[in-house]
Amino acid sequence: MDSSDLARITRFARQDVGRYLAAHPEGRYPAPLVRELARLGAFGATVPAEYGGGGWSRRHVAVLGYELGRAWQPLAGLVGTHLKLCRLVLEHGTPEQRGDWLGPMARGAAVFARAYHEQGLGSPAELRTLVSHRGAVGVLNGRKSWVTNARDADRVVAVARSGDAVVGVIVDPGRPGVAVGPELPRPGMLGVSLAEITFDDYEFDPEREVLGGRWHDLTGALNGHDVTSYAARAVGSADAVVAHALAFARAALDGRTAEAGGAIRLRVGELLTRLAVMRTVWQSLLEADASEARARPDGSEARVGPDASAGMTSEAAKVFCTEALQEVVRVAAALCGGAGYAAPDGVLGRHYRDALALLIVGAPNDVLLSRIGGRALGAG
Ligand SMILES: Cc1cc2nc3c(=O)[nH]c(=O)nc-3n(C[C@H](O)[C@H](O)[C@H](O)COP(=O)(O)OP(=O)(O)OC[C@H]3O[C@@H](n4cnc5c(N)ncnc54)[C@H](O)[C@@H]3O)c2cc1C
Repeated sequence: MDSSDLARITRFARQDVGRYLAAHPEGRYPAPLVRELARLGAFGATVPAEYGGGGWSRRHVAVLGYELGRAWQPLAGLVGTHLKLCRLVLEHGTPEQRGDWLGPMARGAAVFARAYHEQGLGSPAELRTLVSHRGAVGVLNGRKSWVTNARDADRVVAVARSGDAVVGVIVDPGRPGVAVGPELPRPGMLGVSLAEITFDDYEFDPEREVLGGRWHDLTGALNGHDVTSYAARAVGSADAVVAHALAFARAALDGRTAEAGGAIRLRVGELLTRLAVMRTVWQSLLEADASEARARPDGSEARVGPDASAGMTSEAAKVFCTEALQEVVRVAAALCGGAGYAAPDGVLGRHYRDALALLIVGAPNDVLLSRIGGRALGAG
């Protein structure tokens, strides 16, 4: 990857996405934006160059999440999910699966979604979706509660219990046995679909269509995954909200009473302070990642996950930045008054509604907090 790729995507995210949203209903699938992101190489960011991807560093992938979060969270969710699945195919796919899928995934010709979660699921061992076998044919049955991009993805990786293993079936949603439910009502994260998926005797080839082969266990990959991208998306959103509030404040100061001017300055100071701390937390996460990478003799990059030895973990950064974002949008709404709550451009309202989802996606903040606390107390 060269830095001009990221610069082109940044330009697209900061200019074209806003123009698109101003001209189209927020609830419509943004096919032109997805096509353009594919052309710009965003879908191949985590795919190595030998498979036709950009082979971006983890820092650049995080900046991509930041820019898309700044622009529009549903788009960030669609791309972020796909990029995680590129990594999963790279790390767990058979050589044939890597050869078959990584090229089309990198080009955005095969966009992947993930069907992992089932309501109230505590751990992969509790999955209710099951794989059975009828001779040489695999059969998938079960229901997944919330799948981002369920309606438009080319393939869906469905995790299920298969004997003692937790496997990932690469599902073709166009084949019999897959039903995508109606759009789930929600306050935000519109545009990219969010729906249940039901598998009813979906038949597949267990050697070719289970990631890593028939019995390949994904439990390790599913437990304690990296949540850096959600922190990046929260900081991006906060940056957009603060920029919006600053523009309002600059225009609003003229002709106000001394009392109103003072209140506006105070709110701006509060927003900038919160944003500065969010950026610092995010940057320290990226620094921890980079210093671990430098320490590795082969130059490969370390996974900044829950067990990163540096003080900042992706879990702590995700919780802090997504919680701080709620306060940033609330303060910005208070500052902008009616022009924030009910403005024709709808920017603040959109970030406000989308921000709520960041408390839940990836892993709920409460789950992450109890994991962090549990580890400190020797219980996790
Ligand atoms: C916008 C959106 C997009 C999503 N996209 C996808 C997707 O593409 N693919 C996919 O597979 N899933 C997706 N999900 C599902 C998401 O992963 C789950 O909603 C999330 O993991 C929480 O699970 P749950 O809703 O079943 O919450 P529950 O498990 O019912 O938990 C509810 C609350 O109980 C508390 N709690 C539960 N367990 C614990 C614990 N161990 N420690 C502390 N507190 C706990 C927390 O406060 C938690 O928020 C999406 C969800 C949303 C909202």
